[in-house]
Amino acid sequence: MTVGARKHENSGRFSSLCFPDGKKNCFYCCPPIRDPEADSLDQLAEKIRIFRLNRRNLPGNRQNAGEIRGDSCWGLGFLDAEEKLIGCLLHPHQNQGVDLRHATGYRSKCAGTLCQEAVVFSRLNPVRQQFYLALSEGMDSFHYSSRRANPLMKILPWGAPVLEAIFFFEQGRPLARMDFISRYGFFWNELNYRLDAWLAGEIIKRYGLKVIIANPRKFLDFRRRLLSRLQQKINKKADNPPILPVHQLSIPLEFSRLLKFGLNLWEASAVKVGKLQEVILQEVERFT
Ligand code: SF4
Ligand code: SF4
Repeated sequence: MTVGARKHENSGRFSSLCFPDGKKNCFYCCPPIRDPEADSLDQLAEKIRIFRLNRRNLPGNRQNAGEIRGDSCWGLGFLDAEEKLIGCLLHPHQNQGVDLRHATGYRSKCAGTLCQEAVVFSRLNPVRQQFYLALSEGMDSFHYSSRRANPLMKILPWGAPVLEAIFFFEQGRPLARMDFISRYGFFWNELNYRLDAWLAGEIIKRYGLKVIIANPRKFLDFRRRLLSRLQQKINKKADNPPILPVHQLSIPLEFSRLLKFGLNLWEASAVKVGKLQEVILQEVERFT
């Protein structure tokens, strides 16, 4: 949900990941039909040029309004003369309450996009939010938005159990960006949140974060061996209705990702998933 500014300003002590502090903001999900691999730091010089032009030429662009492309939108530009904030020039908060986003043909997509990082961040309490926001201290909006450069955006998809464990391990004292990367960069450099977030959370619950920090390779080997054994056992025909997409079952999102991306199990009954979870948790008990 690329910002139009005021909507995302801090309310009370809670912060918004999209617009955390008035000095920078995120525009990563804009346009919503973008290439998912594209990064906010790609073609940086060209982006700066275009964001300036879009701000300057907005009235003319509106008159010649055309549909947007996946790699750009004529409504996306610098929101302020200092060029600190980047967002939607067509957003109601930029236009005395009038929503002009329909001119691009994608108003509902623009208004409805909310990334998983923003959802996870919104569920943290203000103290945790400030702890994690410290990682992006001093960044401009391009680097803040970047999923390549911003460690905050890399750690959030790991979800609450891992985020809580790191917070407590550091006794709530914010870390400098480089210290955080050198201590916790293995989460995104060596592990994969889609496969590992739920397992890591369960292991941390039992043995603490230290066992993973001390030996990420051991965790990785454990997950690989576990998934390869389970893959051989899973018999899709043995399932009984009702069979649902696993993300619709009452299980944590992180566990549904492990089923999908680790075991290629996209649909299953609650009973089958419950049994599988039991088997995995028995293995977790033997982790050390
Ligand atoms: S990518 Fe996420 S954090 Fe960034 S503007 Fe969109 S919803 Fe907000
Ligand atoms: S209309 Fe606004 S929110 Fe939608 S793609 Fe363009 S700049 Fe982004």
